[in-house]
Amino acid sequence: MKRKRERKKVTSDRLLARLREVGALLEGHFHLTSGQHSPVFVQCSRIMQYPPDAALIGEALAGRFSDLGVSVVVGPAMGGVLLAHEVARALGVRSAFTEKQDGSQVLRRGFRLTPQDRVLLVEDVLTTGGSVLRSAAAVRGTGAKIVGVGLIIDRTAGRAAEALGLGPEVRVESLAFVDAPAYPPDQCPLCREGVGLVRPKDQDPVG
Ligand SMILES: [Zn+2]
Repeated sequence: MKRKRERKKVTSDRLLARLREVGALLEGHFHLTSGQHSPVFVQCSRIMQYPPDAALIGEALAGRFSDLGVSVVVGPAMGGVLLAHEVARALGVRSAFTEKQDGSQVLRRGFRLTPQDRVLLVEDVLTTGGSVLRSAAAVRGTGAKIVGVGLIIDRTAGRAAEALGLGPEVRVESLAFVDAPAYPPDQCPLCREGVGLVRPKDQDPVG
């Protein structure tokens, strides 16, 4: 029993190894959708396509927020949809997602939040935090309270809470951290070194 729990435990190192194994985390020299260059490419759909991995990630993230009385888990589409579902399943609450509309993220499809709701926002990878912040605005617009932000990967190497600036009452947790700077092409050190540039297919929109 003990061994089983140990094997299933998601540590940052194990998660990073698995992300590399399935091609969700690549290292090299990449042209991102934003037009910037980075030594790291992340595409979490490549791990979330495996339900056992998605379930483990959901359980691990849920464990970081199990004391906060979360009533609903909300993620921005597309990256946050499956993740919100898995985290919500582990917490035994419902899940919802926000969608892009006219430059913001909105709750559609009859998803309703009330001022009594305690919301955990989730996102697969945090780069600039834009989609999380736009989702936060949608949630706060309903009067619901945001109690946490859960991430699979924090690309800012631990500066997510600072980058988001949602306030000290919002707990920010990430399962793994990578230091993934992004540079305008004319300031990219990898270009200067002459490292071959890769443009990955089907990237996540940078948010
Ligand atoms: Zn470059």
